[in-house]
Amino acid sequence: MTDLPSEISACRICADRFAATATRHRPRPVPWFRPTARLLIAGQAPGLQVHEKGRPFDDRSGDRLRDWLGIDRDTFYDLNRVAVVPMAFCFPGYDARGSDLPPPRICAETWHDRVLAALPQLRLRILIGAHAQRWHLGAKGRVTDTVRAFRDHLPGAIPLPHPSWRNTGWLKRNPWFETELLPVLREKVKDALGD
Ligand code: SF4
Repeated sequence: MTDLPSEISACRICADRFAATATRHRPRPVPWFRPTARLLIAGQAPGLQVHEKGRPFDDRSGDRLRDWLGIDRDTFYDLNRVAVVPMAFCFPGYDARGSDLPPPRICAETWHDRVLAALPQLRLRILIGAHAQRWHLGAKGRVTDTVRAFRDHLPGAIPLPHPSWRNTGWLKRNPWFETELLPVLREKVKDALGD
């Protein structure tokens, strides 16, 4: 049987693209899933810290995300229950302003259908940011509008903004996120991870 995570780990499709960025890094895919996963975290792409550590969301954004989900690190990194499948498995590099480049489309086109087919027990998909929301929900509007309409995507999916600390201003401008969405999110995550 093919070991899909190992196959992804060996992927070097974007080597030339990454070599042309300011960081001139090599691909380091971070596949994080097993067939028993019930909760899917679909984000954008690893940041530089995750690229260096080889573990998804092992940074301050991850701490905020775990707080939103209402789960601790042990639960989050329990590969038997939680899968982290971003729209690209590698850090894409920085643009001229120092922001992360978008995930290369080739990654999702190459891997996503196979990965999702390998996760038959998923109960809930957490969709972080515009790229994941477009792929999973067909969402074309602003992230704020998609997240605000989170009830439209229950029970199978919940869209979220990126948990980056750069989004602290967004959280202040949208207090409904904390009062309305987070309680539902935590309940649904608990249900998805429970027996
Ligand atoms: S981003 Fe995806 S397609 Fe590109 S090298 Fe990494 S695993 Fe391969």
